[in-house]
Amino acid sequence: MRVDVVEVPEGRLPVRWSPTAVGDYLSCQLKFWFGRVWGWREPTSQALLVGTIVHGVLEDLLALPAADRTLERAVAMLPDRVTREFADEPSAAGRVDPVKATELATFSLHAYFGVEDPREVQVLDDGLERGVTTELGDVAFFGKVDRLAVAGEMIRLTDYKTGKASPNYMWDKYRQQYLYVAGLRMLGQQVDEIELLFLGGEARAVRRPVYAAAVNRALGELQAAVDGAASDFAAQNWNTSPGPLCRFCAFASACPEKRGSVPKPGSAASEAILVGLGLQRRSVRQSAAEPTLPDEPDLLDLVDDDAGGAA
Ligand code: SF4
Repeated sequence: MRVDVVEVPEGRLPVRWSPTAVGDYLSCQLKFWFGRVWGWREPTSQALLVGTIVHGVLEDLLALPAADRTLERAVAMLPDRVTREFADEPSAAGRVDPVKATELATFSLHAYFGVEDPREVQVLDDGLERGVTTELGDVAFFGKVDRLAVAGEMIRLTDYKTGKASPNYMWDKYRQQYLYVAGLRMLGQQVDEIELLFLGGEARAVRRPVYAAAVNRALGELQAAVDGAASDFAAQNWNTSPGPLCRFCAFASACPEKRGSVPKPGSAASEAILVGLGLQRRSVRQSAAEPTLPDEPDLLDLVDDDAGGAA
């Protein structure tokens, strides 16, 4: 359904688009409006926080000399990383059990060592968490890749996914990586292959070659999201996309699609619902000097198959 919203004074479209923002827009435009235009932050969840913890440990692990990249070393890094992530994410308190989060992260690290031996990974210089800030056509683009490495004769772009591989969402994950491929190309870095390392459930690596049709499709969807958001913003109405991801949507209680008669989004009464849920709003204003907001964790990294259960 299309939902009219109240024009909010601070609301604005992203100055720079990340692959996650594109995915957010394409998965539900009203949710994109709540989060990225109006600026309501979704609180973290166990699955999101575990994903952040595992990403952090793997980044630190791959930064070590190859011989030191052992499972024991990775597991030993966990307690500090858990403490740091809980300190950095105040919304975790009371929502996420640190012991359970540590257990789940340990499981994912064991799964990681089942799909690759990190001692054999030849990380490129500046290949961990490399920032990608560039222009893709007319669109200002930014993001961070998990890892770039040499794989035989190829350069491989790898992304860690702490959820399970889900056939329903594979293209969404590929799109992210192909957009990074396009961004890296603009910055002079060629990539030959993308890889998703799924570390939830039955862990596995999924690889795809870089080929023009896939990159062009991803770029076309980026442009469609940017154009669609501009048009929705001008009209002040946005489509809903009810589906499995609604179960994880922090804005469901204020969503006309899910709740029927609720106050018009953007109104003081709608804002009161979100405040009552304990949500907080951040400033979405950006300047030329600081053109990017920190990107949000990607829910699609973490949801399972069609039931949408968290990893
Ligand atoms: S509850 Fe579902 S339809 Fe409503 S905003 Fe959230 S994701 Fe979109």
